[in-house]
Amino acid sequence: MVANSFRALMLREEAGKVSSKIEEVSIDHLPPGDVLIDVRYSTLNYKDGMILTGLGRLVAKYPHIPGVDLAGIVANSQHPDFKVGDEVVVTGYRCGEIHWGGYAEMARVPANWVVPLPKGISLRDSMAIGTAGFTSMQAFMALEAHGLTPEKGEVLVTGAAGGLGSVAVAILGKLGYKVVASTGRPSEVSWLKSLGATDIVNRNEFATPSERPLEASRWAGVIDSVGGTTLGRVLAQMKPQSSIAACGLAGGQNFTATVLPFLLRGVNILGIDSVMVPQQQRREIWRRLARDLPFDKLKTTITEATLGDLPGLASAILKGQVKGRTVIDVRRN
Ligand code: NDP
Repeated sequence: MVANSFRALMLREEAGKVSSKIEEVSIDHLPPGDVLIDVRYSTLNYKDGMILTGLGRLVAKYPHIPGVDLAGIVANSQHPDFKVGDEVVVTGYRCGEIHWGGYAEMARVPANWVVPLPKGISLRDSMAIGTAGFTSMQAFMALEAHGLTPEKGEVLVTGAAGGLGSVAVAILGKLGYKVVASTGRPSEVSWLKSLGATDIVNRNEFATPSERPLEASRWAGVIDSVGGTTLGRVLAQMKPQSSIAACGLAGGQNFTATVLPFLLRGVNILGIDSVMVPQQQRREIWRRLARDLPFDKLKTTITEATLGDLPGLASAILKGQVKGRTVIDVRRN
């Protein structure tokens, strides 16, 4: 039987300031949707950090339950594709932004947002992946679709010690790529090597704009979670006919570049948006994660936290201080 109320981390706004508190919420207050989910785990993404601290005006209306990802068990379903007891995952679709999300013991969402938990992945593992890891695989598959193979040469991952970056390093390493991890954290070099990095570069190497439109070409592909000056700088270092998967903005939104890498080297910048990925592609990305992500390597560095830990974690992730992926056990005090 479904309880009448549940615990949630509620965000409220007063005089332009956003604050959070764990509250008991009536089930009747959940937004409409065909699938009621008994949430077991959520996670922490960069975007969660922004939402929890009120940055970027991402939340449409307060009071609000954040958490862009959730994994749990179907408690009630009005849709033929899902039945009570199914294990499911929800990422994207602006869940946790314009719709109440996963930092709660219960969630109700439209059925077309819900993905059956892929075989070989547990509910907890799915949140160790979360949007950050899902986006890593989406970015890798985009590079692959544009011709990337291990023989083409070194692949750069920026923001490598972060969530998206660390999963990208692990995927590329498992699939036999030469992975160069760019990081500002020397303390994480041995961990990044254990995940699959074959070489490390200090992120300062990309911190200033390129003085020439084209530099020596080095990268056969790039998974970029940093954006800003870093993106402009690596663009000038791309090999002919190579691609950058532009995923993030941890280092800034604006970048300076010339068109020469496009015109003289046929370089592509592939935009990666994990939010509105169509269902079919979404399921394929999860299938590839189940097959190609080396969980044994990631497992040792997953941090587990509770709803009460989230306010502190939010500021840490925005400062680039969170290592790898964090799983939120929403039922633990
Ligand atoms: P994390 O904070 O876990 O990782 C970001 C990493 O970027 C940090 O760990 C750090 O890596 C590096 N970094 C942080 N600040 C700077 C800076 N000022 N200059 C250079 N490098 C910096 O976040 P996530 O992995 O969750 O997300 C990464 C980015 O990807 C975010 O911008 C996020 O919004 C975006 N994103 C986009 C998605 C999409 O659909 N396109 C989906 C998911 C995330 P290190 O310590 O190794 O230097």
